[in-house]
Amino acid sequence: RNLVVAIDGPAGAGKSTVAQLAAEKLAYTYIDTGAMYRAVAWKVLQQSATNITEELILSVVADIEVDLQYIDRKSIIFVDGIDVSGEIRTPEVTALVSQVAKIGAVREKLVALQRKMAQRGSVLMDGRDIATNVLPNADVKIFLTASIDERAARRWRQLQLNGYSVDMSELKQEIAARDKADSEREISPLVQAADAVLIDTTRLSIDQTVEAILNLCR
Ligand code: C5P
Repeated sequence: RNLVVAIDGPAGAGKSTVAQLAAEKLAYTYIDTGAMYRAVAWKVLQQSATNITEELILSVVADIEVDLQYIDRKSIIFVDGIDVSGEIRTPEVTALVSQVAKIGAVREKLVALQRKMAQRGSVLMDGRDIATNVLPNADVKIFLTASIDERAARRWRQLQLNGYSVDMSELKQEIAARDKADSEREISPLVQAADAVLIDTTRLSIDQTVEAILNLCR
């Protein structure tokens, strides 16, 4: 039987880092659903950087082809066959992604794809609505969070590593705004599932967090 692990949580809680490591240890396929929403936002920005309307987003989602593959222990995201794994992490995409992710047609298309991907074998999927909506029958459900200060500090270091220098208080505001948008949207808002286990990673190392996840999967 295929085992399914769902991990949800707010921005910058370290989901993708620990989820990827845990998936590797479990030999499960890791599926980063945030990358898929970022892929749509990236393509929207390719069409127009300034005049972003709902019509534009709808036209992009109507014919976009999103694919996620695991190559050389790295998850690679393809838009219409092009590897955009680097491009989807820019501040411009991050600033737009919640606006794109709240649109029903976007979610319908990506959620259908995510459910299809979950049938490929045992999977560990991370996002915002995995336990509540995408895979409500998941075997293990985890809600991963951390204080806003800690999440901002982590994002800051991650951006620094990617060559972006940003102001810490702006970053904190940006994360809080994204959490608010994701939690308050109408369709599948970010919320801890009633049957999910809460892991607060504020004072946990990456290894400790991975260990906590593995313990829940045993
Ligand atoms: O996980 P990440 O920060 O890359 O997600 C980017 C954005 O994609 C989130 O802020 C949210 O708006 C959207 N998202 C979503 N549902 C998911 C995963 C991500 O709405 N399952």
